[in-house]
Amino acid sequence: MFAFMILCASAFGWGREGHEVIAKIAERHLEPSAKKKVEKYLGNRSVVYYAKWMDDYRHTDEYKFTSPWHVASVGKDLKYAPEKEKGDAVYGINQAMEILRDYREHDDSTVCVNIKYLLHLVGDMHCPAHIKYEGRDQSFKVDFGGGYIKPRKEMNIHSVWDMAAIQSCRIWSVGDYAQEIDRLSRKEVKEIMSGTPEEWMYDNAVRCLVQFDMAFPGENIAQDFVNAAMPLIETQMLYAGLRLAAILNSLF
Ligand SMILES: [Zn+2]
Repeated sequence: MFAFMILCASAFGWGREGHEVIAKIAERHLEPSAKKKVEKYLGNRSVVYYAKWMDDYRHTDEYKFTSPWHVASVGKDLKYAPEKEKGDAVYGINQAMEILRDYREHDDSTVCVNIKYLLHLVGDMHCPAHIKYEGRDQSFKVDFGGGYIKPRKEMNIHSVWDMAAIQSCRIWSVGDYAQEIDRLSRKEVKEIMSGTPEEWMYDNAVRCLVQFDMAFPGENIAQDFVNAAMPLIETQMLYAGLRLAAILNSLF
């Protein structure tokens, strides 16, 4: 049972809400021509439709090799530390970008799957629980809930960051949620969109370091935690959406 829970805890990135909101924000910032091309390769579906696809297919024989890609590590200096053997989120993103730079040279199914990788992995690398910090325990149990947050239950802190915090307080549709948090100035948007996946990893690791002051093993965390966590979670979703749009606009 314990092994099962550990496995589950590390299995998913953002939950459905997180991934789809990120993709919706990206969609709002896609150039019309990029949007048209990307949707053509996705079989006339939107980027939102396939935002969680990698989580749905990682258990299959065909896509098992992508399973380690949902996280990425940073060293003590908070800089991206590549996982050289199996790959990681940044590896998956860079590889997809390299292939899609010549998307006209590849068959449609190759282009399609590499777009799906981008839609998901840019989200995962922005998820606080998916940035693996050297020497830090990120898979301890907490007692989450109480007060207005029901049911109160023991869960892995990972799942609180990925899903439970959002589900405890946001009931908006994906479109409404995107509209709520996607409100920065053009200048701010441009700044967030600039840089490389490696630089974004460092930026994310610095901002999300605060997670280690917010929850401790075995502790009850409830409304006060959620109040403090949501601004960070929403910043990370917004940045992920903007950067995903930046990548797709640069490729298509
Ligand atoms: Zn994932």
